[in-house]
Amino acid sequence: MRLVASLPERRHIPLPPDDREEKILFFRRAREDRAFREAQRASNEFLQLQATRPWPDFPEPTAPAPAAEEAVAPDFLPSDLRVPSRQEVAGLMMRWQQPLVIEGAVRTCSGCGAYRDWIVFCLRDESIWLRCRAGHETREPSLDAAWYNRNSGPVDRWHPTLEDGLRHLGH
Ligand SMILES: [Zn+2]
Repeated sequence: MRLVASLPERRHIPLPPDDREEKILFFRRAREDRAFREAQRASNEFLQLQATRPWPDFPEPTAPAPAAEEAVAPDFLPSDLRVPSRQEVAGLMMRWQQPLVIEGAVRTCSGCGAYRDWIVFCLRDESIWLRCRAGHETREPSLDAAWYNRNSGPVDRWHPTLEDGLRHLGH
């Protein structure tokens, strides 16, 4: 009871504006609110339109791909475990630690003479490249994508950059 009695005066309740200036200000604010709501509504409609209809300038092939991926990739997978779309893939890579024997001969790096611990790339054009520990890269025309697929395991990771992949493979 005492607390209620000692509450400050109800000064916060606005008195009805009785002079001209106050009225104008109030009216203007209401109009601004309405303008804001209208802008908001227009922007929401625009966003919905964008979501349902592909933007004319958007490259067509990229639009259906993410939706298809979303369907197969569960949400709980971290982004680095999600399978990238075909367009995003620059190539495949694997580490090949033992000597690489091609047509009966052990491959050596022409740059440094290394004969083991390679990174083998299979690029989008299906060419095979070897990269030694020192970073010398040479194309290996005797090998092809079929050889790569026979000798590599399933893809279990993907990396946003080549450097990232090399780091992951210990190079
Ligand atoms: Zn080398």
